[in-house]
Amino acid sequence: MSGETTSATKNPAGDNPDSFDLVVIGSGPGGYVAAIRAAQLGMSVACVERDKTLGGTCLNVGCIPSKALLESSERFVEARDHLAAHGVKASGVELDLPTMLGRKEKIVAQLTGGIAGLFKKNKITRIAGHGSIPEKGVVAVKGADGSKRRLKAAKILIATGSTPASLPGVELDGERIGTSTEALSYERVPEHLIVIGAGVIGLELGSVWARLGAKVTILEFMPKLLPTMDEEVSRLALRLFKRQGLSFTFGARVQQAKAEGDTVTVTYQSAGGEETTIEGDRVLVAVGRRPCTTGLGLANLGLDTDRRGCVIVDEHYQSSVPGIWAIGDVIPGPMLAHKASEEGLAAVENMAGLPGHVCYDAIPNVIYTNPEIASVGKTEAELKSDGIPYRKGTFPFMANGRAKALGQTDGMVKILAHAETDRILGFHCIGPRAGDLVAEAAIAVEFSASAEDLARSVHAHPTLAEVVKEAALAVDGRVIHI
Ligand code: FAD
Ligand code: NAD
Repeated sequence: MSGETTSATKNPAGDNPDSFDLVVIGSGPGGYVAAIRAAQLGMSVACVERDKTLGGTCLNVGCIPSKALLESSERFVEARDHLAAHGVKASGVELDLPTMLGRKEKIVAQLTGGIAGLFKKNKITRIAGHGSIPEKGVVAVKGADGSKRRLKAAKILIATGSTPASLPGVELDGERIGTSTEALSYERVPEHLIVIGAGVIGLELGSVWARLGAKVTILEFMPKLLPTMDEEVSRLALRLFKRQGLSFTFGARVQQAKAEGDTVTVTYQSAGGEETTIEGDRVLVAVGRRPCTTGLGLANLGLDTDRRGCVIVDEHYQSSVPGIWAIGDVIPGPMLAHKASEEGLAAVENMAGLPGHVCYDAIPNVIYTNPEIASVGKTEAELKSDGIPYRKGTFPFMANGRAKALGQTDGMVKILAHAETDRILGFHCIGPRAGDLVAEAAIAVEFSASAEDLARSVHAHPTLAEVVKEAALAVDGRVIHI
């Protein structure tokens, strides 16, 4: 049999076991969520995945393992440096890296296994192998053993995600010079980790290894940190990251990275134009990700892609070829797991004739550093350049009782509201659990709430969320606790 099938099929269209209402290619947070929703809507669904496990980048080598390591490395620093202030004496705090990595692997295995369970529960057929679309209505699957299978698909959903972008002159050897995938599993703490790119991955994984004892140098092409973030937040973030020992070189155009034995030499052109080299023992290339469409056969189908290779879709997520939809990292927009999942839900609801929709203004963005950074909606710079009048309210964690009790008082919340309607247009936060606090703001943006709505809502005391309420009060100059 070609293309291993590992779970029961729900009512395949007709009697043909290779015929489905929907074939999803890719089982990341876009594809697997779409498959489950489609099954709920009564479609017979197959999901083709080339990796051994389900869950895509997010569960296997992305969101989940990186958050597991961020959490563990944070505990290490807490035990080593901060517990004493609470009157808890911990001596002989030591790193046990194999256990830390093992814990991460266990979490990944539990969650990817969980998706397999969800597929079974929803009677989604899982088909192992590389999927391609030789013609409309057909998905060809090539198994790892070379076996072949043709699936008939009334509808096809491309959810093939993304892969790390490469850099000319920097040859990935998967050992000394690698991507986030390798940086999630270094067997030893690097002595000097050179990170190319001060984006989300550079900051998160740079933080992990710095906490575990590595010297970390981050080379960034742009002149400042997180240029699309709110200016005040990115300035404060830079100060706090430097205090944690991360070292940054901005305006650095990396030209080459070469490994020789245990040493890696990175050459870059600095802002002043001079060529500089630095040496380390590991390089993490984190210069963005690119859509994954290799071997799908899109060119033969005449399916439109943009300059970056992303599949172009309409407001229903249908591509230029009727019957073929696409979602997630493989289409334009932010490369985020929750964006992929929401698009997956909306796409299959549209297929079923329901009004599937994603509100792109209300997609939260979180960087899981310490402190966390989170935002939703517009920045001040965007409002200014769009000529939108706004009022701003800010409140620092320093003045919040719960933050004091936690011992995490760095950071602030900023709320931007329309000057005339008071509608919340932007929320920017750097501080403890910012990634959880942003949920309230995302709902506010989604429901077109005003700053007054947030300010008048009762927030439990003492919680970090009171900082959000105070920032909303501050929009109208009514802040209480400063
Ligand atoms: P993917 O998750 O990439 O899944 C695509 C799947 O398709 C893969 O399993 C792939 O094997 C499969 N596939 C591809 N081509 C084929 C084919 N031809 N045939 C069969 N199968 C195929 N986002 C967040 O929101 N929060 C985070 O905290 C976060 N952390 C991250 C940390 C790291 C280190 C990385 C790398 C990414 C992180 N992301 C995070 C981004 C997030 O992982 C992606 O946005 C998300 O996984 C995209 O989902 P997707 O379903 O579109 O694609
Ligand atoms: P990114 O786009 O966040 O950052 C890449 C950085 O590399 C940019 O700052 C860019 O200016 C810099 N860069 C590009 N070329 C360079 C060069 N030649 N020399 C030096 N610097 C250079 O990309 P990423 O950090 O690789 O992350 C990829 C994607 O994964 C992101 O789009 C992000 O959305 C997603 N992700 C999300 C999370 C999260 O939500 N917490 C975590 C990790 C990854």
